[in-house]
Amino acid sequence: MQFQYWNAEIEKMPRAELEALQLKRLKKEIEIALRAPFYKERLSKVGIKSSDDIKTLADLNKIPFTTKDDLRDGFPYGFLSIPKDEVVRLHSSSGTTGIPTVIYFSKEDIKQWAGYMARCIFATGCTKSDVFQNMITYGLFTGGLGFHQGGEEVGMLTIPAGAGNTARQFKMMQDYQTTVLHATPSFLLHLETKMKEAGVPRESLFIKKAFGGAEPYSEDTRKRIEALLKVDVYNSYGLSEMNGPGVAFECQCKDGLHIWEDGYIAEIVNPDTLQPAKDGETGELVLTILCREATPILRYRTRDLTSFYTEPCACGRTHRKLKRITGRSDDMLIINGVNVFPSQIEEVIMSLKEVGNNYLIVVEKDGALDKLTVKTEVNAEIFMDDSRHLNALKEKIIETLQTSISISPKVELHESGSLPISEGKAVRVHDNRPKDV
Ligand code: ADP
Ligand code: ZN
Repeated sequence: MQFQYWNAEIEKMPRAELEALQLKRLKKEIEIALRAPFYKERLSKVGIKSSDDIKTLADLNKIPFTTKDDLRDGFPYGFLSIPKDEVVRLHSSSGTTGIPTVIYFSKEDIKQWAGYMARCIFATGCTKSDVFQNMITYGLFTGGLGFHQGGEEVGMLTIPAGAGNTARQFKMMQDYQTTVLHATPSFLLHLETKMKEAGVPRESLFIKKAFGGAEPYSEDTRKRIEALLKVDVYNSYGLSEMNGPGVAFECQCKDGLHIWEDGYIAEIVNPDTLQPAKDGETGELVLTILCREATPILRYRTRDLTSFYTEPCACGRTHRKLKRITGRSDDMLIINGVNVFPSQIEEVIMSLKEVGNNYLIVVEKDGALDKLTVKTEVNAEIFMDDSRHLNALKEKIIETLQTSISISPKVELHESGSLPISEGKAVRVHDNRPKDV
């Protein structure tokens, strides 16, 4: 494989040098943080009065974790560290788990972010000759403008397509001969369902690659998108608190996401004890952003569960790789005392070829007990009136789920394309149990 690097010096920097650079940048970021009201108070409480109090990377330990609640408490300007008239933009999170949080950017911050994004896009083998259709929500959500800037930085013709409206998307793909797509994985699957429905021949499209991110998806889902759309799919990870997309991305090896360690210090901790996870062990990702002027965020508890690869990557990049993020620690469902992550359910159903491209998980109370219903679409090739076939499929799904998650859910089968699809991140879990239970 021929690898290409946006910034070879940084991307292949020897670890010792990379860590020295992290320390230098961390010290600078501490000075920036001390200018934000929130950190001025938080850091002085633990005796950090200047960057001189941070001597090694291990001193990061002295800094308390920052949580989403801290960011909400600091709303609107508690985390701002530059004068307001130096701020050129704001973004906020999608609010999946509550009130959104806001992040401010200086001109330089925007430039930095575009640079990380360009690095990600280039690492997948894209060049300025590509035509990039960004099929994600623009606006406060970081996925739109984040990828847009990165695409332009690489020099690609970047189409601000926005989310939804598959007919319009196909038309643009044909008119402009789009080669690269970006969307949530759930929208990429939906696109394929609609492509079949609308009779758009795959040969009329020029797509080669797709970036899928903003929500968790399994390896089987990736393989399914790749097989159906005949594209290479690259996993993209980011969060608005850390700029947005561009934090970690898969290279051409498509096996784990390089986290740009010159821009972020990544730790993985046990979510219960908050102690560092052992090498290769799964835990919660904690991130510190370096080089951001307007909104410093130190040791942010992302709630996202992942682990580090222990092996170096064949591409030659020295920045460590994260395993596919399986979900957030607060995604876990407790069903009649059994712990289940939605990602475990997805893994099972997306591996069955008879299952279609969309599914929904519903949890309700049935008397004193919890009831789990898995609603899934069936593959468009299966006839909804073939009840023998459908019953056999239902049994198969129940059995496979029973083996993997020790729960026998109720399974409902739905026609291809009939379950609701969201324009932003997929909302696949409907927990309808009363909140105080
Ligand atoms: P919100 O936290 O309100 O959803 P964001 O838009 O900032 O707002 O979303 C960031 C979150 O999206 C991440 O913390 C993570 O949970 C999820 N996410 C983003 N990219 C991926 C990915 N590739 N795989 C799994 N989860 C992802
Ligand atoms: Zn790599």
